[in-house]
Amino acid sequence: MRVGIGYDIHQLVEGRDLILGGLEIPYDKGLAGHSDADALLHAITDALLGAAGLGDIGEYFPDTDPKWKGADSGMMLKEAFKNVRRRGWEVENIDCNIIAQAPKLKPYKSQMEARIASLLEIETRRVNVKARTNEGLDAVGRGEAIITQAVVLLKPAP
Ligand code: MG
Repeated sequence: MRVGIGYDIHQLVEGRDLILGGLEIPYDKGLAGHSDADALLHAITDALLGAAGLGDIGEYFPDTDPKWKGADSGMMLKEAFKNVRRRGWEVENIDCNIIAQAPKLKPYKSQMEARIASLLEIETRRVNVKARTNEGLDAVGRGEAIITQAVVLLKPAP
């Protein structure tokens, strides 16, 4: 088996939709970024690539390339995972943290799990999404940014 870790941070700004875990979440701010800025899918993509020893998301989808402007992070995740599967790996489990002062994400956690599982074509029970605040501390605590973390365990496909 092989383990991979992913981390992402995006600034929360006005005038953007909040896309997180493949869902559009009602809020008066959204994440800034070159793509749709889905920080949770970015962290998971990096964890999958890392576990397979395949580099990081920036090598596949550079934010300097106009091709990826506004890109659907779900598509980026699927593309990266194709490479992981081609190397003979499948997902044992994915665990994630979202650290956001607002909005409250508890009502969306299970929908995110289902969405991530569906993007990867794996069972929902293999995906766990946790959400917490930053106890009011630092930029995340002031509501200026959202941080995401992911850990993935890969096992050889049968
Ligand atoms: Mg990102």
